[in-house]
Parts: sequence; structure tokens; C-alpha cells
Amino acid sequence: MAVSEAPKQADLDRCVHCGLCLNSCPTYRELGLEMDSPRGRIYQMVQVSTGKAEITESYQHHIDLCLACRACETACPSGVQYGRLVEAARAHIEQNIERPWYENMLRQFIFGHLLQTPWMLKLAGYGLYGFQASGLQKLVRSSGILNHLGKLGEMEALSPGAEPPYFFNEIGKVFPAEGERKYRVAFLGGCIANVSFARLNEATVRVLQKNGCEVIVPAGQGCCGALHVHSGLKDMARELARKNIDAVPSGSFDAIITNAAGCGSTLKEYDELLEHDAAYFDKAKAFIAKMKDITEFLAGLELNPNMGELKATVTYQDSCHLAHGQKIRTAPRKLINAVPGLTFKEMPLSDLCCGSAGIYNVMQPEMAGKLLENKMEYVNGTNADWIITANPGCMIQLQAGAEKYGSRQPVYHVVEVLDQAYRRFDLPK
Ligand code: SF4
Ligand code: SF4
Repeated sequence: MAVSEAPKQADLDRCVHCGLCLNSCPTYRELGLEMDSPRGRIYQMVQVSTGKAEITESYQHHIDLCLACRACETACPSGVQYGRLVEAARAHIEQNIERPWYENMLRQFIFGHLLQTPWMLKLAGYGLYGFQASGLQKLVRSSGILNHLGKLGEMEALSPGAEPPYFFNEIGKVFPAEGERKYRVAFLGGCIANVSFARLNEATVRVLQKNGCEVIVPAGQGCCGALHVHSGLKDMARELARKNIDAVPSGSFDAIITNAAGCGSTLKEYDELLEHDAAYFDKAKAFIAKMKDITEFLAGLELNPNMGELKATVTYQDSCHLAHGQKIRTAPRKLINAVPGLTFKEMPLSDLCCGSAGIYNVMQPEMAGKLLENKMEYVNGTNADWIITANPGCMIQLQAGAEKYGSRQPVYHVVEVLDQAYRRFDLPK
């Protein structure tokens, strides 16, 4: 019999119902409803996992409306690991409900095939690129037709761009360190990011090279499984975790690097995912011991100071899975402050979710839209020329926000800012 995915009683028991997490929760702040607060959701999980309540549509709704942003984890004085709880609750729902056949087919296609198959992602990327480059996307967006297409319209507005040539071409390659080799690191390019953030991935490799790293992009790597975990599909995520662990022999590297905070959180929790897998648990432990977010890794080095000046006022949006999931806040700020010429302005509540949360903005557009509107008010209050963040998903959401509620400020990943500064230094004087 399959192991129950329900949240563990010991994890649920940590909550003492004090309510200190409530005001840090974006959905509670918006709705003011106990059932949409961390404490209320934990209460519902307890009822369901002890068999006192059924998995109802209402339960699913409150669990689905959670962003899994983990801000409540940061606020909780009792050490409740809420991310683990909500992931388990979703997997438990998935284990126990029947979805309509068409929904099953769509989920199977997206999670079981598309995200895991490079040629499918490339094909989708070329289709998207054709749509954008032909001018059709501009036409559709300006026609107003998207306002009448409901969820499909929301999805189009939030669809990432496609950036050929795709980073899939770089998988299996080795990039030498610039100057003396100090470190040997593995870089994980992700799945969709290899199509939609190919330039960001290239910038990441260049910045690592500039900092004395030989960068290996190991063959056999693939999707990390974060989107699967957030959608309750833990078995698929486990398969992906095993694949990545096999592809990246951790003993051969000083660090394993990702530039996606959302992926990093899941990659650093492969041991939890594989806790019942005797063959992989120790390998997962060795893997996560080397796993680093790019900002965490770079901030721990003596950073190559050969940067040109960039003149801009900038603000930083904490990615939830970096600030709350991985507890990394100072590293990105340290890197931004190391770039000559930048003026850094903190926005209020920089660690409150922007509404991106993986595919949350597509699945829960109304709540995601409200959070984004609030976020852009804080951003605009800083008068920043650029918005900087540390996760591709947040970049897409903030780009949509800058377009709709801002002044079309460019949105950059921390690494792209460093890359610009290094490239400026290298320009002929
Ligand atoms: S999750 Fe933590 S902060 Fe929130 S009610 Fe429970 S114990 Fe209190
Ligand atoms: S993860 Fe985020 S949205 Fe979910 S309960 Fe915690 S603070 Fe609220």
C-alpha cells in the first residue's frame, strides 16, 4: 500500500495556535479570514488528517489559495515548518480525490511530459517565439481580446517569453574559469528557464567564470520537481530528484548552483522528498550539502571587484523561496551593494509575496493580481529605475506589474546586474 502523504502529526503538533503568523500571511492580509490564514489552514489539516473532517471542496479551496510562500515560517516562534505541511496537504488531496479525465490528462501532459522533455519545451518555445516575433502577440494584447478570454487571457499575459538559442544547447558543456581556477561547480539550468531565461542562465555561467569557477553543466540534469511538489505530485518529483542526483555526482564539485530560488528550495529538500527511499536518502543528503543559490555562493566568495559603473536607483524584491524558504536575505543585498554606481532603496515589506508563487498567478489570478498591485505601490514609492529579484518566476510577475501598474521599469535578476557590471568593465576604455 502507498504511504499516506498526509501531513505528519508531529509537524502539525508544533503549532500552538498563537496567531503570531497571521499578519505575515498575504492571503490573510487580503481577506481577513481565519480559514485563509496559516493557523486556520493548519487547523483544517489537523481535522482532515485525524479523520474528523473529509477532504471537501472548501478544504481544497483554502489549501489551494495558499501561496506556499512560507512567510508564516519566518514569523512562527514555534518553528512550524509550514512549507512541508502545505506540500503534504496537497499531496494528500491528490492521493484521495478523483479529478475529471480531461484535468488528469492536462496535468499528466504538463507535469509528466512537457516539463520533463527538452524537445517538447523547445518546440513550445519556438511556437511562443513565433507568436511574439511575428507581432501577433502585440496585436492580441492591444486588441483587448484577452479581457474576454478569462483564465486563458490571464495565462497569456503572464506567459514567459522565449529566448532562442536555448540553454539546452549548453547542457553537457564545461566552461573554464577566467584566470586561476579556484572552484569547480555544477550549474543546474532548470526546465522552462532553459527556454525562457536562456540569457539569464548564460549570464550566471559568465559571472561564475569571472569569479574563478570552472562551470560544468552536467548532462542528464532536468526539471527539479518544484512545480510538481507544489501541485501535490510528489511521486513525479521523487523521480526527478533521483535523476538529478544521479546526473550530478556531488563529490566532484565544490558546489551545485541554481539561479532560481523556487527550484533551490526544493533541491535543498531532496532528503525530505526521499526520506523513505533507502537507496537514495544518503545520496540526497550529500547532494543538498553542496546545493547553493547563486547569490549565497557568490556572497561567500571574495567577489571579483572588476566591475564597471552602473548608474541607476534600484530596489530589491525578496523571492519568498529565498528569504523564507532558504533564509537568504543579506547575500543578494550584499551583491547589489557591491556594484559601483547603484543607489539601493529598500521598499516596505520587500519579503511579502508578489503573487508569483510558481504557477499560482495562473491558477489564482484574482489573489495574485491584488498582491501584485500592492507590491507595485511599494516599488513605485521607491522611485527605483530597476527592480531586482532572485527568481525567474518573480521576474515574470514583476514584469507584468511594471507594465500594468508601474513605469515599465526593467526587472533584473541579481546575477544579470553583476554580469552587466563585469561586461561594462571589459568594454574597451
Ligand atoms: S504557525 Fe506558528 S505562529 Fe502561526 S499560529 Fe501556529 S505556532 Fe503560532
Ligand atoms: S505559506 Fe504564505 S500564503 Fe500560505 S499560509 Fe503561510 S504565509 Fe499564508
